[in-house]
Amino acid sequence: MIEMPEAATLARQMQETLTGKTIEHFSRGPLVHKFLWLSKPAEEYDAFLSGRRITGASSYGRSIYLYVGEADLLWFGELGGRILYHPQGEPLPAKFHLRWDYSDGSAMSFAMQMWGFVGLLGRSELAAHPYAEIGIPPLSERFTSECFDQLLKEYPEKTKKGIKGFLVTSKHVNGIGNAYLQDILFRAKIHPARKIPTLNQDDRQKLYTAIQETLEKAIRLGGREEERDLYNQVGGYKRLMGAETLGQPCPNCATPIVKINYLGGACYLCPSCQES
Ligand SMILES: [Zn+2]
Repeated sequence: MIEMPEAATLARQMQETLTGKTIEHFSRGPLVHKFLWLSKPAEEYDAFLSGRRITGASSYGRSIYLYVGEADLLWFGELGGRILYHPQGEPLPAKFHLRWDYSDGSAMSFAMQMWGFVGLLGRSELAAHPYAEIGIPPLSERFTSECFDQLLKEYPEKTKKGIKGFLVTSKHVNGIGNAYLQDILFRAKIHPARKIPTLNQDDRQKLYTAIQETLEKAIRLGGREEERDLYNQVGGYKRLMGAETLGQPCPNCATPIVKINYLGGACYLCPSCQES
């Protein structure tokens, strides 16, 4: 799934490469998926987008906004898969779900994995949308350690769910999914099932720092190595804790890395550094 470092990388590249292009045609690809949500029928997207100019792109946590004209945008919400740019003459992949053809002969495709939302709406509608710009993106000015403490305090399920539940639910901190979560918790030396009330001031500070360090590094490296950027290049961030490192020695203490299932997904951790 696309998490904040991938969204930031894709948005930066869209801004660089797509700004100024005119959309000639929008269409669905050969693949159909019931977990791909659009905000209106695909034909309406085509009628609305054809002839319109891309005016820029930005990201907010896990979301990417591609601006169309002065007043509208395409909103790539929480999604998995590949959004790829194809210069003129480069063939599109055989399998994809959505495509945008530009008037200069270049194109963009989206091949979805798992699920995804691609909305088309007015910039003014975005502010009023219940799922847009929820939560606070780490690395934003608003994400201070006091703000983080406050979010932890206000988390309604703090006595029921572990810290994983808080971190991967975008309405609190927006940008972290099950991938970067593993390295953040490892760097903070916290077990994913630890309940928030058991975290002391030092734990909370370590967690705050680990979030910033991990995401900053991943953005600098263009996302993680399992994902592709707009130009189909893999990211440079190698995860410390993941399927690739399962069973290998922990970089801190050499205890073998283990996998547990917790809150609907696999967690990779060092059982010695991250005691429950
Ligand atoms: Zn360890």
